[in-house]
Amino acid sequence: MKILVVNAGSSSLKYQLIDMETEKVLAKGGCERIGIPGSLLKAKGNGKEKVYEQDMPTHKVAIELVLHALHDGEIGVIKSMDEIDAVGHRMVASGEYFKKTTLVTPEVVKTLEEKTFELAPLHNPAAATGLKACMEVMPNTPMALVFDTSFHATMPEKAYLYGIDYEDYKKYGVRKYGFHGTSHKFVSGEAAKYLGKNPSELKIVTCHLGNGSSISAVDGGKCVDTTMGFTPLAGVLMGTRSGDIDASAVEFLAKKKGMSHSEIITYLNKKCGVAGISGVSSDFRDLIAGAEQGNARCRLALDMFAYQTKKFVGSYAAAMGGLDCIVFTAGIGENTPLIRAGVCEGLEFLGVKLDKKANEGKNDGSVREISAKDSKVKVLVIPTNEELVIARETAELL
Ligand code: AMP
Repeated sequence: MKILVVNAGSSSLKYQLIDMETEKVLAKGGCERIGIPGSLLKAKGNGKEKVYEQDMPTHKVAIELVLHALHDGEIGVIKSMDEIDAVGHRMVASGEYFKKTTLVTPEVVKTLEEKTFELAPLHNPAAATGLKACMEVMPNTPMALVFDTSFHATMPEKAYLYGIDYEDYKKYGVRKYGFHGTSHKFVSGEAAKYLGKNPSELKIVTCHLGNGSSISAVDGGKCVDTTMGFTPLAGVLMGTRSGDIDASAVEFLAKKKGMSHSEIITYLNKKCGVAGISGVSSDFRDLIAGAEQGNARCRLALDMFAYQTKKFVGSYAAAMGGLDCIVFTAGIGENTPLIRAGVCEGLEFLGVKLDKKANEGKNDGSVREISAKDSKVKVLVIPTNEELVIARETAELL
């Protein structure tokens, strides 16, 4: 069985074609600048790479070009479109309308458009454009929606509710939904495999630390809490997002800066986080270089990030009543020993003991154990693979 995984943004469309028997990526690539002059597709297949510089005014043209690349003599990996058994679409927000991976029907598209667009106005309409383009070009191929939020659907009410009027939660769906669910699901599952345990036996804190960051408590294979909220703005400070902030401080800041509601939210999403604290960059490589050169605000940004992440690890250990394993994943989690050390430092009382040398080891794409042999809590670095989860969920649904 071959599954095409599609992740569509407003002007981009990334894809992978995955063979489900071997779980190998047969082809992958991305269209850039859809609807903007200068659009191109960078595609890989057959061990080769090809760049198609072609006008892509719409997502429909983009998906047609992707299918052409999948057939292309040089880099093609399939002979006919019939070889694609299904398409799995990454969808960011589900609200309370979709609790799990869902087969696409006209009714589903209607609910997606009418109920979820306002929850993720930057992501869901763009992904739906990609979905509809695929449905037009591949009308007989089953499509699935795989939501970033699904893995968090097991959170209990006490974890996902905000302390607002319960009737308002019911009326408007304002609650914590969580994001990065496919990543938290993948790495917690891989951790159980690596440890040779059944997921039901483990209490794991998964730290997805990338440009966007979220931390989840996974108890017995199920998510019981997570740091992102109604939107991905909540939790730890991130590349450019503020993370948690007192709602009254937001109003105060907006007044001082003469910003409207939407302007202050854009500011909190795009101008804050470690980029705002350091005044240098959202990229941790730049922050580390800055801190090494004595830039105190780069140092502060790194310290804040590790401190806030550590606080969530500790609070989730308390929420689960124990801790067997901490997993680090995503760009920062997989590549930054300094942050992993900063998060684990001071957690010795919970039974966390890092192996310094193992922590400094290079990311080789494999699962790496970075805790000391006598550490009660295992600390693992696990490369995430969100596309594989989307493909697996789509295949399971079929
Ligand atoms: P992601 O969103 O998972 O792609 O993560 C992107 C972020 O990971 C970048 O903004 C960097 O801050 C960080 N990152 C990626 N590679 C490295 C690296 N080799 N060393 C330190 N940080 C890295």
